Amino acid sequence: MKILVLNCGSSSLKYQLIDMENEEVLAKGICERIGQELSVLTHKPDGKDKFVREPPMPDHQVAVELVLEALIDADHGVIEHADEIGAVGHRVLHGGQVYSKSIIVDEDVKKVIKDCFPLGPLHNPANLIGIEACEKALPGKPQVAVFDTAFHQTMPPKAYMYAVPYDWYEKYGIRRYGFHGTSHAFVSKRAIEFAGLDPENSKVIVCHLGNGSSISAVLNGKCIDTSMGLTPLEGLPMGTRSGDIDPAIVQFVANKENKTVDEMLNILNKESGMLAVSGKSSDFRDLNDGMDAGDERCTLALEMFSYKTAKYIGSYIAAMNGVDAIVFTAGVGENDDVVRKLTMEYFGYMGIKIDLEENKKRGEERYISTPDSKVKVMVIPTNDELRIARETLELI
Ligand code: AMP
Repeated sequence: MKILVLNCGSSSLKYQLIDMENEEVLAKGICERIGQELSVLTHKPDGKDKFVREPPMPDHQVAVELVLEALIDADHGVIEHADEIGAVGHRVLHGGQVYSKSIIVDEDVKKVIKDCFPLGPLHNPANLIGIEACEKALPGKPQVAVFDTAFHQTMPPKAYMYAVPYDWYEKYGIRRYGFHGTSHAFVSKRAIEFAGLDPENSKVIVCHLGNGSSISAVLNGKCIDTSMGLTPLEGLPMGTRSGDIDPAIVQFVANKENKTVDEMLNILNKESGMLAVSGKSSDFRDLNDGMDAGDERCTLALEMFSYKTAKYIGSYIAAMNGVDAIVFTAGVGENDDVVRKLTMEYFGYMGIKIDLEENKKRGEERYISTPDSKVKVMVIPTNDELRIARETLELI
């Protein structure tokens, strides 16, 4: 069966068509600047040249139709008819407290996605539009919602509650939800297999470090804590997000600079993090180049990021009373040997040893710890689309 995986952002739509016979990606691509001027569709069929078009894309419905056209196009397509698509798997940001697993979409599921609009104001509306666009374009084909929050629903209340008035939780659902769930689930499961751990007796920490970053503590295959919170703003400092700060800073600066809470939150989401600390870039490649050239603020940004990552790892070792494996994944986790080295240097006291040669390599699944290291440290490339496709197949 061929499964289409869709990941709708507020103004983008990423897709992959995967043949589940051999889990081969037949085509992938992205629609960008949906609802804006100069929309772009970049389509990459396997074994053929990349294909770029700039058609008008007023909304996600049109974007879905353009994706289907590209998939069946005589020159750039990979299937003859849209009917060959057996099902669609959608990445959905927020499932609130309702869904701890993926689910086949029906009217009730759509209502929950809608009810969660306030919790995921940029993504959930786009996710729902993507689902409804597929209902029109591929009538009768099953659709599955795979929630970014679902894997973290096993957290106990002591991990997900905030120490704020209790009725905020009761009235508004204010609690930690956590994100990047598909990645944490995929990578922790693969780490258990790769390291030959007993799934029922395993302690794994997953460091999903990318433009957005989060860390999770996975005890016996289940998430017991994670660093992102009600929204993806909490936790590590990220490309442009501040991560944890003293909440009183919001009031202090808002009063000084006459800004609203919304304006402050926009700055904390889009103008903070590595971009703000370095004063140069949110991209870790630029930070590494800066550090190599002796730039003090790029060095500070990388040191802060690694320090904070180590602090989260340390707290999750305490939360699980030990750790068998620490795993790095996503753009930074898979590629940035400096961040991995700076982070793991904090754990020498525990007998964790890094093999600097293995650490230097990029991308491939491997141990970066030495054979005599007390804890296994590894890199496992994440693959959200494959996990979404597998869950879709399983459910239908
Ligand atoms: P992601 O959000 O997982 O796609 O990760 C994107 C981020 O990965 C980029 O913003 C870069 O900062 C980082 N990245 C990608 N390649 C490298 C690399 N070779 N070295 C360091 N960082 C990288």
